[in-house]
Amino acid sequence: MSAVQDVGIVGAGASGLATAILLAEAGTTVVVYEAQPDLAALGSGITLQGNALRALDRLGVWEQVRGRSFSFDVTGIRAPGPEAPLVAEMPDNAMGGPDYPATAGMYRPDLAEILLARARSAGATVRFGTRVTALTQADDAVTLTLATAGGAEQVTHGLVVGADGLGSTVRELIGIGTRPEPNGMGIFRAFVRRPAGADHTELVFGGPSYIAGFCPTGPDTMYAYLVEDKQDRQGLTAAEGSRIMAEKARPYGAHWNDIRAQLEQGVQHVHYTWFTSHLVPAPWNRGRVVVIGDAAHSCPPTVAQGAAQALEDAVVLGDVLTRYDALTDDLWAEFHERRVPRATAVVEASDQIASWLLAHERGDVQGLHRTISDLVSQEP
Ligand SMILES: Cc1cc2nc3c(=O)[nH]c(=O)nc-3n(C[C@H](O)[C@H](O)[C@H](O)COP(=O)(O)OP(=O)(O)OC[C@H]3O[C@@H](n4cnc5c(N)ncnc54)[C@H](O)[C@@H]3O)c2cc1C
Repeated sequence: MSAVQDVGIVGAGASGLATAILLAEAGTTVVVYEAQPDLAALGSGITLQGNALRALDRLGVWEQVRGRSFSFDVTGIRAPGPEAPLVAEMPDNAMGGPDYPATAGMYRPDLAEILLARARSAGATVRFGTRVTALTQADDAVTLTLATAGGAEQVTHGLVVGADGLGSTVRELIGIGTRPEPNGMGIFRAFVRRPAGADHTELVFGGPSYIAGFCPTGPDTMYAYLVEDKQDRQGLTAAEGSRIMAEKARPYGAHWNDIRAQLEQGVQHVHYTWFTSHLVPAPWNRGRVVVIGDAAHSCPPTVAQGAAQALEDAVVLGDVLTRYDALTDDLWAEFHERRVPRATAVVEASDQIASWLLAHERGDVQGLHRTISDLVSQEP
């Protein structure tokens, strides 16, 4: 039983590929359209909390993820300054339950590669270099216009999933006006060699950056980040990014001494991006087109739940689409009931923590982390 036999998914990020895996596995014909020519240039690292790992298990890739990530169960908090004293070591909550570590750090391209291979082996077709530019809906089908190297093309599907990220074209094409708004912060992230002993995330709040942190991603690798007031850093090269990051990292000690030395030598992967926030009010669908993941919601990664929520969108959408036998109001009601309050809570908590940081206010950050942790520990 399936609500639709044939689905077009726009975007081969985590939410698009996860949806593709679940639907293709259930026998639905799935085509994923991805504007980029391949999965390169995907950023540095990602922090996956237990509920994300549980979702990845549902997709059948947990063992591969475990083998290519770095798991840990504690977060260290240090003070700024050259001595960088350890202020606290807090156990991370195992939000996916006892079968998974509390947290795993991972190189983003590795996660993308694993999801892509799994989607293809489940039977999904993934077309790179294919941008969706227009969409029309009839009662029983959706027609997409594609821009490809070979010219324009039209395809028709029973359902279209807009998993096309922050700047979602699908969201715009179905008339949803909500857009990601910058929250005032920008983040440098560098993929670096993991110093000996840096075996879990450490955060420094304060000093010239709002947050200086890192997360191990493998036996020899990790990503390090610095959060600042947003600046126009368009066109930043890796060499410039390394130099600015090294300068900004000067007031931080402990493992940052090693990270800074690497940045001074120049690091190959340095990314800069602004934090954004938005939440599409329910419903996330218009007829036979639905937006999920960053197309539907985004927030500063202050509780590291963006990709986790994107994966949960996919898991719940996959569940309702394969359990109902038609695209009914009940199907959409269940999807929204299971997803919107949870994503809303994550966006609001993440925004609140970012606002406290921006205002240099001491809010109840731990209390909010606990609330979100309790919420996302439950199955979506
Ligand atoms: C600085 C930063 C740090 C973060 N850290 C974490 C973290 O540690 N942990 C965490 O859980 N989350 C984190 N997140 C959030 C996480 O990265 C996102 O929530 C997640 O990647 C969203 O996945 P997605 O599949 O919805 O979108 P995306 O990964 O953006 O994928 C969308 C895809 O759609 C494609 N596309 C766009 N338009 C079209 C079109 N018209 N036609 C075809 N294809 C199109 C794009 O090329 C892209 O590949 C962070 C976010 C930021 C900004």
